[in-house]
This record gives sequence, C-alpha cells and structure tokens, in this order.
Amino acid sequence: MPDKKIQKLKRSAHKLPLKPGIYLFKDQNNRTIYIGKARSIKERVKSYFSSQSDPRINSILNETDKIDFIITDSEREAFLLENNFIRQYQPKFNLRLKDDKSYPYIKVTIQDKYPTVYLCRRTKPDKARYFGPFTPASAARKAILILNKQFGIRSCKENIPGKRKRPCLDYDINQCSAPCVGYIDESEYNENVNSALLFLEGKTEKLKNKLKKRMNDASEKRDFEKAKGLRDLIYSIDQINLKPKIISVKEEDKDIFGFFRKKHTVAIYVFCMRKGQVIESSTWMTHPKKISDKKILYNQLIDYYSNKTDLPEKILLPFEPLRADRLSSRLSQQRNKTIKLQVPQRGNNKKIVELANRNAEMNLLKETIKSNPLKELQRIFNLKSLPNIIEAIDISNTGGKESVGSVVVFRDSKPLKKEYRKYKIRTVEGPDDVHSIQEVVYRRYKKLVEYKLNLPDLIIIDGGKGQLNAAKNVLTELHLSKIPVISIAKREEVVFTGHTRDGVKLDKTSPAVKLLLYLRDEAHRFAISFHRKLRRDKSFESYLDKIPGIGPKRKSALLEKYGSIKDMTQAPNNEIIKLIGEKAAHNLKTFFNKK
Ligand code: SF4
Repeated sequence: MPDKKIQKLKRSAHKLPLKPGIYLFKDQNNRTIYIGKARSIKERVKSYFSSQSDPRINSILNETDKIDFIITDSEREAFLLENNFIRQYQPKFNLRLKDDKSYPYIKVTIQDKYPTVYLCRRTKPDKARYFGPFTPASAARKAILILNKQFGIRSCKENIPGKRKRPCLDYDINQCSAPCVGYIDESEYNENVNSALLFLEGKTEKLKNKLKKRMNDASEKRDFEKAKGLRDLIYSIDQINLKPKIISVKEEDKDIFGFFRKKHTVAIYVFCMRKGQVIESSTWMTHPKKISDKKILYNQLIDYYSNKTDLPEKILLPFEPLRADRLSSRLSQQRNKTIKLQVPQRGNNKKIVELANRNAEMNLLKETIKSNPLKELQRIFNLKSLPNIIEAIDISNTGGKESVGSVVVFRDSKPLKKEYRKYKIRTVEGPDDVHSIQEVVYRRYKKLVEYKLNLPDLIIIDGGKGQLNAAKNVLTELHLSKIPVISIAKREEVVFTGHTRDGVKLDKTSPAVKLLLYLRDEAHRFAISFHRKLRRDKSFESYLDKIPGIGPKRKSALLEKYGSIKDMTQAPNNEIIKLIGEKAAHNLKTFFNKK
C-alpha cells in the first residue's frame, strides 16, 4: 500500500473520538466496505495500523479512502447499530455478519389479567409491550430473571384462574409470586408489573422512588427481609441500563437532527430511523458568517428533503428552525402526508437528539483538529514523551577544508536561535562526516551534562546510518543512550532510527515530517553560513598578510571588526585609521585600490 495513503489514514485515525460507537471504512466511491464497533473508536481504529501483517486488514486498508464514525452512549448501542448498518450496507469485508441474525426482545403481555414475560425474536402488532432488541441475548435472559425474582412476574402461559392446586417450581425458587394459586392478588400483581415496566422503560428514578417508599413501609412494619430485598433491588437497578436510544421497539420512521456550531463552522448531523432501526446517518459542514442557527437549520432541511422520496412522519430537531410551520406544511404537501417537526423536551426522543448533537460536535472537531506535529513525532518514533526540545546537527566543509559542525535547537516546534551552537572541527582531517559528527555530539552533550543544562528530547542527525551509529556510540559513552536519535538522509528523505535496516520513507505532506525537514534544513543552513564565514575569514586573512605594516594585532582587530573584505573596503577612512593607525590604513587602501 502506498506509504502516503497509509500516513493519511493514520492521521485521520488520530482525529477520531475516544468514545463508544461504530466506525465505517469507506472506499473512494464512498461505498462502505467495512463496519466495526468499539468501546473507543479511536483506539480500535488505530490498532488496525499496527496489525498490517494481517492480510485481511491489509486488504481493508488498501481499499479504504476515508474513515467515518457514529458515536453512541454505550458499547451495547454500538453493537446494535453495527448490526443495523451491516444489514443495511452489506459491506464486503463483513461477511461474518451478513446473515440475517435477529436479536431477542422481551415481551410483556399487558393485555392479560396476570401478565407474563418471556423472550421472543420478532415483535407483533398485538397489545403486548416489547422491549429490546437485546445484545447479547444473555442480557435479555438476565433481565427476565430480574423481573421474575425481584418483581415476582411469571414466565409461564398458564391460564389464570385455572385448575392448578399448587404453584410450580418457579415459586419454590423465588422466581414467581404464584398468581396461579392466588398467593398474590390481582392488584398487587399488577402493581409489580407496573414497576417491572418502569424498569424495562429505563425510568429508573421513578421506579427507585416507588421502591424506596415500599422499602420504608416494609421497615416500619418490621418486615426486614422484604426491606432488604427491596434495597438490593434498588441497588441492582442502578447497575442496569436497559434502554437503548438508538433503537425503538415501535416500528416507527423518523429523522433525528443534531446541530453544533463553533465560531464560523457548523456541523449538522442526521440519524435516519426506519421501522425503529437507525440505518443511515450523514453530516454536513458549513461555514456561515452572519447567518442565524435557525436559518442554517431551515436551509439544511430544505436542501436535504428537496430530492428525498422517503420522508418519515416525524422529524426531530434540536431547536425550531426559521419558519417551522411553513416548512412543515411544505414538506407535508410535497409528500402528500402529514410530516411533523418536533423539538422533543423529554424522554427518549430528547436523548436521541442529544446524541445527534454530540455526533455533530465530534464530526466538527474531527474536521477542525489541527495535527500537533510533536504528538505525531511522538507516535511515529514511539517516544516516551513529547519531543518539546529537539536538536539537529549537521556538518559542512569544502573538500574537507574548514570543516564545521552546527547544532540548532527547537523548543515547542520553534527555533531557539540564542541556543544555536557552531563548532570548528578540531580532531578530524579531511572530509569525514562520520567522525566529525562524533566530535560535535561529544562536545555538545558533554557540555550539557557538565553544566547540568536541559538535554533534548530528540536529536536529529543530518546523514545516513553511519552518522546515526556514530552519534549513538558517543551518547552511550556519555551515558545518554536514552535520548532518542534519528538521522535523515539528504536526497531520499529517508529516516533511520536504528530499528529497521532500510529506513522509513517520509510523507512530506505530514506536519510532523515538515517540522523534521525544517530542523534538518535549519541545521544545514546554519552550518553552511558558518563554513562560508570561515572561508571568507581565511581569504581575508591571507590578503592582510600581504600588506606591509599589518601584523598579527592589527590583523585580528580588522578581522574582528569586519566580517569580509567588502565590509572593510566600504568602511569610512577615519574608522579604519582609528582602528589600525594612519600609516597602516594608508597601506591597506593602496593595496586594495590596486586590486
Ligand atoms: S407459579 Fe404458577 S404462575 Fe408462577 S410460573 Fe408457576 S405456574 Fe406460572
């Protein structure tokens, strides 16, 4: 797979939310090719890039052009949503889940005098109440057990009143209150059924208040065993949240919109629920300047529904758009059926609108996140901490003459010029970059250690494997082997870390790589300018040697004052006379006038 493409996908994975939900790998034609669910979307998607030896993952990544996501409030909701989306889109890499597997519902036969509760795979248009679907199915079984044990609701299909003289085993094991033999009267049994329904509806606060009252009553009547049972039940209700927002047992059709604005960027999100299942979602981004939120939402609804034929009866909105009444009648006329626009104030509808709002927010953040190059460097090179201080080292010489080294220092991605250092190479003869790097690394870091100065978090060497190893050896000698070092080879833009033989080819579009190259080039520029200055000084010096009356003292005064022959010849006469005296200044002028 092309390195650039994988780098681009990796960067987009880093912008995903650390929240439960589903992720959708899409190809360049925007077709969904793979869907997965996760407790943390970001962590899960990131893991695909560390499993590239898996041929299946390789094939998925090979065909992926972008990665979308939908956040949910729990892993369980993510599971249900994943199932809906897989059935809807039949992604080619989700073969395992293409079968029409259905998840169970809990059925409560509230139309009966003594309602019963049991599992079923399909809902029917009867008068019973259905809850679910449940994933895994064991969650539904556990919920039924709670209804049996805690609320005494039966699971049998026995006719009541019937011919039974004795209750069945369920009563003996405390899983039924035995209405079949009159151990509980109709009103108390139905009171328990109502509590069970509150539990299944997720109306836990209301249920807990009701149970607390019963617990206090039982305590007052000194029925401590019953009070303890009720206390345990209140505790277990807190642990279970049965109601998913993303699925409705009513086979209803509705579109649910979310909205999020950050300065001049707006994200609008929609969940499309058909027959009680969320089967589609979309996001739009706009960059309005002086348009109100109400107008933006109005425009989006007009746009979205102008070409749609499949309109739901209900459209749930986060707030009322501009001209809501007119919009509702326009959509109703367009589709020849009543279409209600609602801003839910409570209940499940409000919760799913809030979820749509959060999805809008996450999508907007993903779009507006600017990559932090330091974080990216930390990830690319597997560094223990952010490389806040980075130093880059380069060597410059001409045919091995006037060899110099440079160290440039960046703090928080910015050059810290007062910390730049230059070195005349003292111990190396001729063009020998490897040993020159060794000398610079030794002098630089020995001094930092001696003076207890800040050590860098990352060192970049301009060069290949030879220079990298030379630097590493010196750092080991100085007991600084923990400082990470990489080298960047000049022409190929390949990074060597010492962990792979061939080095890593760079994606020059990445902000992190741009920073690396900036550092490398800055070290190069600084080394070259020092080298040129030395060469100029050298030729300047050799000229001065030829002028009568200019000995070592005057020579060094001139070299110190003027960096080049050009600067010196352009200087005012009186300035030069003051520096080296009238006679020597005269000789100097005569010499250069002849040139
Ligand atoms: S005790 Fe009676 S009502 Fe309860 S499950 Fe058994 S038969 Fe049904």
